[in-house]
Amino acid sequence: MGRQQEFVLRTVEDRDVRFIRLWFADVLGQLKSVAIVPAELEGAFGEGIGFDGSSVEGFARVFESDMVLRPDPATFSLLPWRGESEPTGRMFCDIYSPDGHPAASDARHVLKRTMDRAAERGFTFYVHPEIEFYLFESGDLSGRPPVPVDTAGYFDHVNGGTANDFRRTAVQTLEAMGISVEFSHHEAGPGQNEIDLRYADGLTMADNVMTFRAMVKEVAIEQGVFASFMPKPLSDHPGNGMHTHVSLFEGENNAFYEAGGEYQLSQTGRQFVAGLLRHAAEISAVTNQHVNSFKRIWTGHEAPSYICWGHRNRSALVRVPQYKSGKSSSARIEYRGMDSSANPYLAYSVLLAAGLKGIEEGYELPPEAEDDVWNLSDNERRAMGIDSLPASLDEAIARMEDSELVAETLGEEVFDFFLRNKREEWDGYRAQVTEYELNRHFGPM
Ligand code: GLU
Ligand code: MG
Ligand code: MG
Repeated sequence: MGRQQEFVLRTVEDRDVRFIRLWFADVLGQLKSVAIVPAELEGAFGEGIGFDGSSVEGFARVFESDMVLRPDPATFSLLPWRGESEPTGRMFCDIYSPDGHPAASDARHVLKRTMDRAAERGFTFYVHPEIEFYLFESGDLSGRPPVPVDTAGYFDHVNGGTANDFRRTAVQTLEAMGISVEFSHHEAGPGQNEIDLRYADGLTMADNVMTFRAMVKEVAIEQGVFASFMPKPLSDHPGNGMHTHVSLFEGENNAFYEAGGEYQLSQTGRQFVAGLLRHAAEISAVTNQHVNSFKRIWTGHEAPSYICWGHRNRSALVRVPQYKSGKSSSARIEYRGMDSSANPYLAYSVLLAAGLKGIEEGYELPPEAEDDVWNLSDNERRAMGIDSLPASLDEAIARMEDSELVAETLGEEVFDFFLRNKREEWDGYRAQVTEYELNRHFGPM
C-alpha cells in the first residue's frame, strides 16, 4: 500500500469518517458518486469497486458492462457541507475494465493521456478557470422563466444581498477543501456570479471544477436558492462563460514567457494560440456541448463569436491578458469560448491538444484583432481572415465529425459516444415547436 493510501486510511480513522464517496464524471461531465463505508476502503485501494458501466452515460455497452473504480488517494478531502461530526470524505476515481486496463471511456483518463503527451515534450499544463453561474430564487420553473435572486450587475456590491453571503460561504468551503480562490464577484447578469480559482495542473483543476459545481449546488440548497451553470439561462442577459487561462511550463520556466517578446509571449505561446484558433471550430462541440451553448455564443454580452485573438479585445476568442511585467510565471493566455457546462476533463484535453498541435506543426499566429469584431461587417471580417465559431450545435457536431485532432485526442470510444449523444440532443431540439415560434407565427398564419 502506498504512502498516500495509508494517509487516507489513517485520516479516515482519526477523523471518524463515516462514509467515503467515490466520485467520477460521465462522458458529459455529470458527477457520479457511490458511497462506501471505511471497512471497504482497503479493498477499494486494492482490487477496486465494481459497478455497472452500462447504466452510466457513455461508459460501456450492455454486453461489456463490468467496470472498476479505483480511488485516487491524492484527491482525498472531507466534504464540508456534510458536517463535522461523523464526516463524509470523497476521492476522485480512475475507471478500469475488469482486465485491469484504463477504461477507454474514462474522461479523466483521456486528460491524463493528453497531459502525458505534453509531458513527453517536456511540458506541464496549468489551468485557471473563471467560473460563472446564476443564482435563482427557485429551480422549480413550471413553464415560467427563472427568477434571479437580485437585479445587480458587474462588480456590484449588494447590501445584505444573497450573493454576498453565498460567495463568502462558497469561497470558505472551497478553501476548507484545499482549493484556492483568487477572486469572487457579482457578474454582469442579475443574480450572476463568478469565482476564479487559483491555477493548478490540468488534472487537479478538472477535479476542482467538478467539486466546484457540486459545492455551489449544495451551498445554494443550504441558502434556499438555486444555482445554475446552464450556458444561457436568460434570453436577455449574459450567459455563463468558463473562461480558461492556460500556460505550459518547462520545469520551473513558463514556456509562454519571453522577455521582450510582443506582449512577452514566446514563440511557443504564439504557436499554442495559433493551434487554438485553427482548431477552435472542431473542438467547440466539446467546449460548448449543448444546444443552449450556442445561444450564449451568438448573443453578444462579451461571449466570443469570432475566431481571433487580441490583447485588450474582449470580443476575441483568445486573449493574451495583461500581467505584471517581469513576472514570468503569470504569462498565460485566456480561452474565452468555453462555457460552464463543459466536461472539464474533455474540454481541457481538446484545448491542450489543439495548442500542442500548433507547437508541433509550427503554426503561424495570424495578426491580432484589435477592433471590436462584432461591429465589423461580414466582408470586413472575411478580408481580415476571421472565421466564425459554429452557429449551432448542429454545425459544431459536423465540424467535430471531420476532426482528426478530436478523434485522436478523445479516442474512438469517447468520440463516437459523444457525437451520438450530441446528435440525439440536436434531433430532439429541432423537433420542438417553441414558444417563440408560436408567439410569432400562430396568430398571423
Ligand atoms: N459572461 C461572459 C461570457 O459568457 C463573460 C463576461 C466576462 O468577460 O467575464 O463569456
Ligand atoms: Mg466573467
Ligand atoms: Mg475572462
